[in-house]
Amino acid sequence: MEARFALLEKTFDGVGWRTREFLAAARTARDFALDTYDQIHMPNWTDDRVILLGDAAWCASPLSGLGTALGLSGAAALADAFGDGSGLGDDRVRAQLLAEYERRMRPRVTAAQKLIPGRVDMVAPKTRFGIRFNALVMRIVQWPILLPLMAKVAGDSGHLTEPSREAVASKR
Ligand SMILES: Cc1cc2nc3c(=O)[nH]c(=O)nc-3n(C[C@H](O)[C@H](O)[C@H](O)COP(=O)(O)OP(=O)(O)OC[C@H]3O[C@@H](n4cnc5c(N)ncnc54)[C@H](O)[C@@H]3O)c2cc1C
Repeated sequence: MEARFALLEKTFDGVGWRTREFLAAARTARDFALDTYDQIHMPNWTDDRVILLGDAAWCASPLSGLGTALGLSGAAALADAFGDGSGLGDDRVRAQLLAEYERRMRPRVTAAQKLIPGRVDMVAPKTRFGIRFNALVMRIVQWPILLPLMAKVAGDSGHLTEPSREAVASKR
């Protein structure tokens, strides 16, 4: 833990403003956290009766903004693949059902893990201009007039979820 505080103090040395106060508070905070942005890439998410789901399977990192949606849609995809569970006792059928789960989730996860260029600088701008520019962009993208455009961009990036099979079936 001391190494983490030391890293912070070195990085923010001489920054000014209330930085010293915040660094001192970090040392006594009960909920202090310092972590890296990592992704998990795995060739398979299932092995016989072991099934990975959510961050354990495909963590796209907080930078994607999609971790929760992927976890929920993964659970829905798994439930859909299992159906009433009648095939789970048969090794061959179970392997097919799990392959279906992976087939359905793989494109969505792959899309979510492709971060747009400059994403890290967007989240952690290093200059005063970068911070102001970032704040401005965040305000602009929330303009109601831009909602259709944002919906299209978000849809292409996987932010929109597909309805479950049950939801599709109930509408028929
Ligand atoms: C700072 C930050 C910001 C984020 N922002 C967003 C965002 O804006 N939008 C978004 O969609 N996602 C965001 N995410 C990502 C999102 O939080 C995760 O993708 C999501 O929580 C993953 O859900 P999960 O159930 O797979 O894993 P987790 O939420 O990590 O749940 C795993 C659970 O398993 C428990 N556990 C671990 N080991 C064991 C064990 N051995 N025995 C029993 N239990 C165990 C843990 O305590 C935990 O409760 C963010 C994440 C972080 C860290």
